[in-house]
Amino acid sequence: MSDAVIIGAGLGGLLCGRILSRKGWRVTVLEQGGQIGGALQTFVRDGIRFDTGFHSVGGLGPGEPLERIFRPLALTDLPWVPMEPDEIIGGTDPFLRLSTGWEEERAHVLEPYRQSVWRLKGGGKTLADALSRDLDILVRKRVTDIEDHVVACADGSFYRGEAVIAAIHPQVTLQLLRDPVRPAYRKRIARMENGPGIFTVNAKLRSGILPYINHSIFLDGKVMIHFGEADDAGFARSLDLLAFETPGQAGGDGCGSNRTSVARSLIQAAARRLPGLPDAIEKYWVSTPQTWERFTGTPGGTAYGLRKYDTQDYIAPQTPLPWLYLTGQNIGLHGVLGTAVSALNTCNSIAL
Ligand SMILES: Cc1cc2nc3c(=O)[nH]c(=O)nc-3n(C[C@H](O)[C@H](O)[C@H](O)COP(=O)(O)OP(=O)(O)OC[C@H]3O[C@@H](n4cnc5c(N)ncnc54)[C@H](O)[C@@H]3O)c2cc1C
Repeated sequence: MSDAVIIGAGLGGLLCGRILSRKGWRVTVLEQGGQIGGALQTFVRDGIRFDTGFHSVGGLGPGEPLERIFRPLALTDLPWVPMEPDEIIGGTDPFLRLSTGWEEERAHVLEPYRQSVWRLKGGGKTLADALSRDLDILVRKRVTDIEDHVVACADGSFYRGEAVIAAIHPQVTLQLLRDPVRPAYRKRIARMENGPGIFTVNAKLRSGILPYINHSIFLDGKVMIHFGEADDAGFARSLDLLAFETPGQAGGDGCGSNRTSVARSLIQAAARRLPGLPDAIEKYWVSTPQTWERFTGTPGGTAYGLRKYDTQDYIAPQTPLPWLYLTGQNIGLHGVLGTAVSALNTCNSIAL
């Protein structure tokens, strides 16, 4: 039996694991996928590393909010690289416009990016690997049932914990939960609205064409442009284009012509800021909200999870069951900073 069984090895689950194990807790982390990290995962195609979700963080400079959380966990020792401030062209930052509605939350998410912006050499995998050191993490363990301190997996194995921390989407947690809880609690979470899914184009670039730009570009409140790493001559080797699902695209299977037309329209839009882009692209790969749903188990492939319009949309880390806790981007705020704050809140509420 573990002191804590954690469901999900994304940032939220890994951070809780790290915090609790540093306090001497015996922790077991169960991850449905073959890789840890969730939205921190990277993948390699044709020898180029691409980020899936996380590209940069805000507020990691001395005394800034993320630094205050990461320093005690030795995460500021990782190879963080300072970036220039984001370039926002026409319209608001789509991260904020679409994912949140709650003014106070916007301020919390945006402010750290005004202070400083950082990327991580090796991408999100570097952070996930650092967090996973010394943790007991079991992969390919898809949790199917949660009941009375016991977590059961699709392969027939089960794990018991004094505490169980669900670092997955709360709507999924409640679908897996077999214990009776107040119907009003279930109903409230089931009815909460999710933010949009995301399309991503990961492009491999021909060498020596597009100069590397050390900041992210947000175009017309619609398209986000993130550069990968630079080669020795200062040219970009890869670039990621991200756009939220629009109502017209919602519900599509993200396959075939839809997938290709979305990719083309993203490349075309980005070419307004980077005219050399279409010629620079050697090859690209597309992921859709359906890809996200498959990989992370988030309903509809929502990128940032539950929308937060109001203080009423706040979900506490505690649940009606004294041994079951929630964490992750849906509890409080999304993003690396938001998820880190949630992990601290969750661990604090387990009464460290
Ligand atoms: C495309 C995209 C770009 C982003 N860019 C940035 C950025 O640049 N900067 C920033 O700060 N934030 C960014 N974010 C947000 C940030 O990455 C997330 O808020 C954060 O990583 C979420 O972590 P999490 O642990 O809550 O969830 P997740 O990363 O979704 O982790 C959940 C984990 O639980 C596992 N799981 C799910 N169901 C089960 C089950 N039944 N059994 C076992 N395991 C299960 C999943 O496989 C997954 O590994 C981005 C997100 C996306 C989607």
